[in-house]
Amino acid sequence: MLFDAKRVLITGSTSGIGLAIARAFAAEGAATMINGFGDKDDIKSIVDELTKASGAPALHDGADLGKVDQIDKMIARCTSEIGSPDILINNAGIQFVAPVTDLPPEKWDDIIRINLTAVFHTTRFALPAMRAKGWGRIINTASAHSLVASPNKCAYVAAKHGVAGFTKTVALETAQDGITVNCISPGYVWTTLVENQIPDTMKARGLSRDEVINDVLLAAQPTKRFVTPEEVAGLALYLSGESAGSITGANLSMDGGWTAQ
Ligand code: NAD
Repeated sequence: MLFDAKRVLITGSTSGIGLAIARAFAAEGAATMINGFGDKDDIKSIVDELTKASGAPALHDGADLGKVDQIDKMIARCTSEIGSPDILINNAGIQFVAPVTDLPPEKWDDIIRINLTAVFHTTRFALPAMRAKGWGRIINTASAHSLVASPNKCAYVAAKHGVAGFTKTVALETAQDGITVNCISPGYVWTTLVENQIPDTMKARGLSRDEVINDVLLAAQPTKRFVTPEEVAGLALYLSGESAGSITGANLSMDGGWTAQ
């Protein structure tokens, strides 16, 4: 299998895009560490499923990515239990929809901490071992909102633009180390993150649920369909392969044409 010698750490992978990425790597034989919140039994069954699919170890770490000491421990645990991550997927993210004057400052802090600052910490903890091996892949789940804005999402848009800039910078710093650093920028993907913002968008814009889905979310996407988590996972697999060795510092859109407009 393509990745049977590799260890992959995927943050925010108990649901949505991260879970699809974990499943895609496990299907290619990788040992996986997943991370994120959720029901204990659900997480156990995901870990069992990944172990069975890969024939390699899989484990879950419940680190809160808003806390640097927990990130540090997560990387150390990955290193001691399955080996230092060859492939790091920074995917955890949260959202909160409100106009700038109504956005609670603590929501701003949470979004910046989890969507942006955590990417800095995981990267700085994981890079030395990648450098020592002379091989590594770092893939950050950014967003179409790393390139363009939408109203009522100032913290999220600021964080994702930050992820895009961080990606380019670390790509330059690691360009001669056998390591690539890229971000994937999906448009709207049907996951709980999108589902949860529908009520607040209905409130902020005075719209019905169907109007939010068709006139706000899919309005931006010329294909008029949601991107699937499996499509994002397919690109993460490609970027992790040898034939993607010259792709670094890129921000790859997967947004049904949204940012082509
Ligand atoms: P999701 O809500 O299904 O998954 C988010 C994951 O992050 C979950 O596993 C959750 O437990 C975890 N998480 C949340 N807070 C955490 C914390 N403090 N510490 C550790 N884990 C935490 O959402 P998703 O849509 O799959 O989002 C994944 C990534 O994709 C995010 O970075 C998001 O910004 C990005 N993204 C999503 C879309 C979309 O339309 N769904 C579009 C573009 C980018």
